[in-house]
Amino acid sequence: MGRLDGKVALISGGARGQGALEAELFAAEGASVVFGDVLDDEGRSVERRITEAGGEAVYVHLDVTSDDDWTAAVDTAEARFGKLDVLVNNAGIANDEKIEETSEELWESIMLVNAKGVFLGTRKALPAMRRAGGGSIINVSSIAGILGRALTGSAYSASKGAVRTFTKTTAIQHASERIRCNSIHPGPVDTPMLAGISDNPDVLSQRTEEVPLGRLGHSRDIAYGALYLASDESAWITGIELIIDGGITAK
Ligand code: NAD
Repeated sequence: MGRLDGKVALISGGARGQGALEAELFAAEGASVVFGDVLDDEGRSVERRITEAGGEAVYVHLDVTSDDDWTAAVDTAEARFGKLDVLVNNAGIANDEKIEETSEELWESIMLVNAKGVFLGTRKALPAMRRAGGGSIINVSSIAGILGRALTGSAYSASKGAVRTFTKTTAIQHASERIRCNSIHPGPVDTPMLAGISDNPDVLSQRTEEVPLGRLGHSRDIAYGALYLASDESAWITGIELIIDGGITAK
């Protein structure tokens, strides 16, 4: 028995990193998965990997800043698999510019993907989840959406803070429809997003030293949190912040 048997999930930013692992894990746990990204070649190879392993998954081109792409992605879930139960708003982009180094264009580009993308996806998923009789929305924020961080870009932290409170509003406004919404707050996870960090031994040891559990996160550390929030095991949980950070925010 899979933990997501019978569920249909849509995951954004699923061509690599955490999103790709979530697509694989969700499918292995019995979900039918639609996942999208702007990296179509990588996305299609993840789709092949999942289907060759016996899972059910469909890759779609999904730029989270495009309302039309969201319509097509949700339509694909309902047309191929009959409904939509789970949305993981995972796609994101990072920056490390401080406030005075941040141009208006950079600010807007980060907010567009990380904050507006979550709004557009949620707005499109809600009616489908209502049709399904309920659902679970999982928004990937960051510990940068909770804490001020010396090395984090100002626009990135603002965008992830927006995701944190948007999650709670979604949770409260849709609880009566049995649509749950929670945020996940990863610490530094070893994915292509951290490439500049994990490739440089000095920066890597600096980032690792701040983690009480002594290592960077792996995508699987985050994916198991998403799996829990997607499943009915978390049926009485909505509006929470699930921090997965090796202990950083406990200090
Ligand atoms: P990643 O860069 O490996 O993956 C992000 C994915 O999002 C990529 O496949 C990328 O193509 C996709 N994406 C970017 N813009 C998009 C768009 N407009 N439409 C659709 N897809 C788009 O990084 P990751 O670590 O897997 O990041 C996943 C999430 O976790 C992000 O929201 C990120 O901000 C968050 N996060 C990451 C870390 C970390 O240290 N890696 C820490 C905290 C939070």
